[in-house]
Order: sequence, then C-alpha cells, then structure tokens
Amino acid sequence: MRDQDQKFKKTANMIRIRSLAVAIVVITIVVVASVYVGQRFYATKKEVLQQQCELNAKESAREYDRCLLTRANIVTVAGYAVDMMMKSGRDNQAILDYMTAETNYIVATLDPSTTGIYGLINGEYLDGSGWVPDKDFVPSERPWYVETLQSGHEITFVEPYLDMQTQTVMMTVTDLLGDEKSVIAMDVSLEPIQRIIEEVSDPAEGSQAFVLDSGGIIVAHSDKSQLGVNYLTAADGLWHSIATNILEKGQMQFDLSAEEGDFSVYVDKLEEGWCSVSLINTDIWYQPLQRTVIIIGAGLVLIIAFLSVVFLRLNAKNQALQRLHTRIVQEERRGDELQMLSEKDRMTGLYDRVSGERKINELLGAEVEGVFLELDIDNFKSINDTYGHQVGDQVILEVADALHGTFRSNDITMRLGGDEFGAFAVGITKQEMAEAIIHRLFQRLESLEIAELGDRKVSASVGAVLFTGKEAKSFEELYASVDQAMYTSKKISGNSLSFA
Ligand code: GH3
Ligand code: MG
Repeated sequence: MRDQDQKFKKTANMIRIRSLAVAIVVITIVVVASVYVGQRFYATKKEVLQQQCELNAKESAREYDRCLLTRANIVTVAGYAVDMMMKSGRDNQAILDYMTAETNYIVATLDPSTTGIYGLINGEYLDGSGWVPDKDFVPSERPWYVETLQSGHEITFVEPYLDMQTQTVMMTVTDLLGDEKSVIAMDVSLEPIQRIIEEVSDPAEGSQAFVLDSGGIIVAHSDKSQLGVNYLTAADGLWHSIATNILEKGQMQFDLSAEEGDFSVYVDKLEEGWCSVSLINTDIWYQPLQRTVIIIGAGLVLIIAFLSVVFLRLNAKNQALQRLHTRIVQEERRGDELQMLSEKDRMTGLYDRVSGERKINELLGAEVEGVFLELDIDNFKSINDTYGHQVGDQVILEVADALHGTFRSNDITMRLGGDEFGAFAVGITKQEMAEAIIHRLFQRLESLEIAELGDRKVSASVGAVLFTGKEAKSFEELYASVDQAMYTSKKISGNSLSFA
C-alpha cells in the first residue's frame, strides 16, 4: 500500500514537472519567435522608409532639373539669337519682332503660363507679349536686371516670388548678352514642379516634399500654403530646423524630432543649388508596425494566459487527485485498523468469539483439514476469589500468550469468553500431531511464572477434535463435540487432553 502510494505521488509529480516544462518551452518559443518577427518587420520597414524617402527626393529632383533646364535652354537660345541680331546691326524693332514670334511659339507649344520673353536691349525695354509698362517703370531697377548684372552669369535664376493672384510661384530666368548691359528674361511658373511634388508626396501617409532655393524660399511644396515662405527667416519650429540643417549645416539625410512628430528627412541637390527635400513622419509611417506589435503582444499575452490557465488547472487537478489518493489510502488504513479492532478480543488481542467462529467456518467451508480444540482454565474462579480480579486478568493474558506462542500465524486462536479459549490448527490431520502441539502448550502453561500465585500452578482442560475436511461440519457442531471432550478432561486434575 505504502509502495503504491509513493509510486502514485511520483507519477503525479512527474506529470506536474512535465507540464511545467512544456509550458515554459512553448512560452519561450512564442516569445522568441515574436521578438524575432517583430525585429525583422521593423528593420524591413525602416529600410523601405529610407528607400522611399530617397526615391521621392531623387525622382522629383530629376523632374525639376528637366523642367528648369528646358526653360533655361529657351532663354539661352533666345539670348543667342538676339545677340547675333545685335551684332549684325539689326534694329530694336526687328529684335522685338523676333521676341514676339518666339513668345507666341513658347506659349503655344511649351508653357502657356509664361509671360514670354522680354528684356532691356540696347537700353530699351522690349516685351514679346506686348505688355506696355507704366511711365514710372524703370527696367534697370527691376530685380531681374539688377541680379543678372550682379551675378555676371550667362543664365541666372532670379529669386522666385509668389504671384498672389494665381497662387503660383514664379521665377525669372535671365541671360546676360554679349554687350554685358543687355539682359533677356522670361518669367516661368513653377507649377510643373508643384505638380510633381504633389504626385510624389502623400501627406495622409505621412510623406511630404518640398523644394527649397538656396536662400531658404519654398519654390514648391506638397502643402501649397507654404509656397513662397522663407524657411530660414520666416518659418519656425520644424520647417526652420529642416532648412537650417540643410542650408547651414549641409546635412543630406537626418532624423528630426519636433512638436509635429518625428521625421526622417532626405535631401537631393538640384543643378541650380536648390534642394529637393522629402520627409516622412515616422509616427504615421510606423503606425501599422505599432499596430502589429500590439496585436502580436496581445496574442502573446493571450497564449501565455491560456497556457497558464491550462497549467494551473492541470496542476490543481493533479493536486486534487493526490489529495483524494492520500485520503483513500488513509481511510483504507483506518478501515483496516477498525476491522482489526472489531475482530479482536480487546483484552487478549486474540480473535473474539464472533470473528473466530467466522474465520473457522470459512476454513471448514473450504474443507481445510486441521484440529479444533477448546481450552478452559481450571478453577479460575478460585484464582479470582483468592488473588483478586487483576491477578485473574493476568492469568487470562498469560494463557492467551501461551496459545498465541504455540500456534502458527495462519492458525486461528480465539477467546471464546471468560477463561475459555479456542484454536484451529491448520493442516493437523493426525491425533499424534495434535497431541504434540497441545503438549507444547501444556509445557508453556506449566512454565508460567506469576509472582502473585506463589507456588500455585495454572492448568487447563482441553478437548480436541480432528477435522478431515470431508465431513460437512459447522463451527457449532465442532464446538459441541470438543466441549464434551473438554468436560471429560475436567474430571482429570492438572493439564489434560481428551479427543472427541
Ligand atoms: P472449572 O475448573 O470447572 O472451569 O471452574 P472455574 O472456577 O474455572 O469455573 P468457571 O469456568 O465457570 O468460572 C469462570 C470464571 O471466570 C467466572 C467469571 O467470574 C470469571 N471470569 C470471566 N471472565 C473474566 C475476566 O475477564 N477476568 C477475570 N479476572 N475473571 C473472569
Ligand atoms: Mg474454568
């Protein structure tokens, strides 16, 4: 029973350890896998972000260059033509005719928004679009003239300005002619650049773009309201920081943290010294990533919670099972003890009358051969009367002990009541064998030493009967016959034995 109990506890513990190990392994795998996937996802997303930023800036830069170059080329060609006309002595009227024809051509084929070609030629203002200036118009004081002479370059991009009426950024492209005094110019709208900007950027997705001239003025912007603003002087916060980083610190790629959020900025230089800037709001850009991380995290928590619940329930079941098992074992033990107690004579520990009779009947029913005997202490009453009940009790215990010592453990020894005992010795088939055993019992009785009794010896009368297993007999029948034999023995003084 104890072995079984230990085994059960060991198995239960093993199940608990195993399920704990499985839970730990599963949770570890899930956590490691999620962290790995999350990291890969983040790294990829960041790479894509930079590529996207770079692509936006480069793509738009190429388009701007093409757009500006076309316009610069027109002015170069016109400047060359006018220069040739001046050199070959053609008058201003001829030059104006050429400029008008050229303007018509440009407006019709290339850029309907242009003002056409005009200029200060040989000290006279000529305008291809036919615009007639006011009286106080002094062409040599206009920025396009002043800046071109200052720069001394053949082709000059004069500082862009916002045309309030059309809400477009305009820019003048000029060419200084051979006489170093005459200037030919064309106003162009930067609307095509604005269109490209709007195409490559996607403010809803956190991506913006703009073009900055070397002085910090916004030439094109995904947010049209920014057109014409000077980011170096007029703007503050995010825009000012970006312009400063680019134009003053010369940074081409950087991250920026501002009130509006976190941004990744990429810059590409244009031919004219302008900057094509692409910026992405990483807060918006990483939103799907954050969402994924939250989902993965929540999934992780759920899995761990689920596994914990499963493990705890398994553990609780296991413990309940263990408790139940322990209780059953305890109850079985107590039951055994109770049965033992109820079967045994309280004083001597031998079987009592009822259980002894039942046990012997079982043997008889199974046709087990043996000898049944009855023993009654002689003159016990007088022991009681002479030495007292306590001494009587001791005599009963000593006789019981002698019986217990004489018979084997699979024999039945019982107290029939008072000073009367019974015994069934299994496997005793011959009278001589029975006599030998009972003789040993008598020897034990004779050697009893009970101080209170002094010289007085304890003797008993025994009646015995052999049971061959053949005849169907009950305990009662055997008892009746040995009782008679016992009375025969009573007539003889001292230890005596009679067979039925
Ligand atoms: P006999 O030789 O004919 O058997 O005479 P006896 O004195 O033994 O007479 P009997 O067997 O009738 O008397 C048994 C006495 O044992 C009666 C009872 O008072 C006493 N007795 C019975 N049970 C106990 C016990 O548990 N303890 C003690 N001290 N006495 C008991
Ligand atoms: Mg007696």
